[in-house]
Amino acid sequence: MAGEIYFDNNATTRILPEVFEAMQPYFTERYGNPSSIHRFGSQVGQVINEARAQVAALIGAADPVEVVFTSCGTEGDNAAVRGLLEAQPEKRHIVTTRVEHPAILGLCQHLEKRGYRVTWLGVDQSGMLDLDELRGALTDDTALVSIMYANNETGVIFPIDQIAAIVKARGIPFHVDAVQAAGKLPLQVRRLAIDLLTISAHKFHGPKGVGALYVRRGVILPPLLIGGHQERNRRAGTENVAGIVGMGKAAEIASSRGADDAARMGQLRDQLEESLLRSCPDCRINGRREHRLANTINVSFKFLEGESILVLLDQFGICASTGSACTAGSAEPSHVLRAMGVPGEWLQGAVRFSLSRFTTEEEVRLVNEKLPLIVQRLQGLSALGKLGRQERPEENRARTANNIGTRG
Ligand code: PLP
Repeated sequence: MAGEIYFDNNATTRILPEVFEAMQPYFTERYGNPSSIHRFGSQVGQVINEARAQVAALIGAADPVEVVFTSCGTEGDNAAVRGLLEAQPEKRHIVTTRVEHPAILGLCQHLEKRGYRVTWLGVDQSGMLDLDELRGALTDDTALVSIMYANNETGVIFPIDQIAAIVKARGIPFHVDAVQAAGKLPLQVRRLAIDLLTISAHKFHGPKGVGALYVRRGVILPPLLIGGHQERNRRAGTENVAGIVGMGKAAEIASSRGADDAARMGQLRDQLEESLLRSCPDCRINGRREHRLANTINVSFKFLEGESILVLLDQFGICASTGSACTAGSAEPSHVLRAMGVPGEWLQGAVRFSLSRFTTEEEVRLVNEKLPLIVQRLQGLSALGKLGRQERPEENRARTANNIGTRG
């Protein structure tokens, strides 16, 4: 789709041309099975190990052997949690947070129904965890702690080093969902007391359908998928060779350019945020800026519905997201914003803008131009919105007098 203005990079990112190029031969000329004895296959096995080293470098692993390739972030999360439970059948308690991605949230809810006890740690208004609550939750029965590094909806970053130290002090295995952090924040698993860590290639300009699970040397983790001997018996199934090569290349590029990209995205993100706050009076940002990924803004518009804003943005070719789960056409308010105690009148009107290295100043300018007009129009239509704005009739008249055009 040409001409889209893409602000949905926490959902997925555009593959880098270098990554695509690196992958191509593994679909066409070099299609051998890495498990084959012949040279045609075993040479492919070598490139998998090169990619393993590139991924290990991105996350700061001591040894590439600690990297196990998976099919996605969801698989990595499931393999980590289920594997740790299987390794410690006598332990029945899990500690996680209320704001996890459904890959952990849904899994832990499922396990809760099957008799596990889950402690759901809350967050404050800025999306932050209470570390004393974490300390108090850990017991001798705790099989694992699983906490995300950065939140996919708000971009809020948890102090993963402090969390790791608290969990380690109790000798409990610690899993980190770093799917949103990889490529955006420096990762140093070797230095931190992290036992398992999940990443997914499509969030940092790699292909979809491939991820990796870091398993610290010495951690016992029975596999989720049982079958062949791939990945040293840690994940059965013929390897997605092209995907793995692409993930390795994307990791290599993220290792070298990630910090520069983050600095640039941070500047654009701040421009966008400040301008929105200036031009849309009934809006608020969810999650404090200093604790947020450089690429993420989650903004709520009072009394409005995020879906309506997205539909109107789409008319200008602007792609954003609400971050809330939609079931059968009805949008549930975001579990993350609810956990942050965002008041009801702000809950439905949340929109997430997530930037990437491809985001331009011109695109930010366009959102800054169109979004206030869209918001005015919707506020003009919203009975509740009208009610809410009765205190500022002058301002409202001026704002609703403007018309907004559409893209075409
Ligand atoms: N964890 C987090 C924090 C995510 O943001 C996502 C995807 O949005 C996942 C896990 C799942 O990753 P995947 O889409 O590769 O299954």
